[in-house]
Amino acid sequence: MTASVALAVAPGHRIPARQPWAQQLAAALAAMGVQLDLHQPQPVCKAAVQSACSAWQLKQLQDAATREGASKLQHYTQGVWGGTLDAASLGTRAAYLAVVRERSRRAPLAQLRTGSHWGAEETGRWDKTPPEQRLCSHCGGGVETVQHVIFDCPLYASLRTRFSDLFCLLPEPHTLHAFFQQPPARLATFCRIPQAAVAGGA
Ligand SMILES: [Zn+2]
Repeated sequence: MTASVALAVAPGHRIPARQPWAQQLAAALAAMGVQLDLHQPQPVCKAAVQSACSAWQLKQLQDAATREGASKLQHYTQGVWGGTLDAASLGTRAAYLAVVRERSRRAPLAQLRTGSHWGAEETGRWDKTPPEQRLCSHCGGGVETVQHVIFDCPLYASLRTRFSDLFCLLPEPHTLHAFFQQPPARLATFCRIPQAAVAGGA
């Protein structure tokens, strides 16, 4: 390792992948704001590196979400997280992943949380339908977004009544952020029904 570090202080190759590993590591850490002086190597604080990596990852995500057309990222950062996503949350496994173990129950909830769902908002991406034309095939009352499926589509009015515990305590106006804060097992049971209805051709 000492030899590698000594090599790394020599002028680097112009192609990063051909630089010595220590030089690549130092460059990667520098990009995240952690300085690694290869001339005077010191132990790196693991917590500082983890913190810098998380902050960097969060900034990448936030920057990407502000770009035009990044509607799925905006759904996740602004809708599901309500703008509260921070570096610590990024490194924390979502509670529903531990609570809802069965894949078939977990998938519809994950799909609605991530925006990669079965509705026209998502399927319209596949055939490049303009976003404003990805209307709900059940009611035609708007773009079939996650918000539409959960709160607005009349097709699921009786379902909302059946799961009134998920709706009656939500503050007005209803937000996806508040909705997804509720007990994961109950959310999974609710989310599975619209997904199953579409899968079954209803
Ligand atoms: Zn609808």
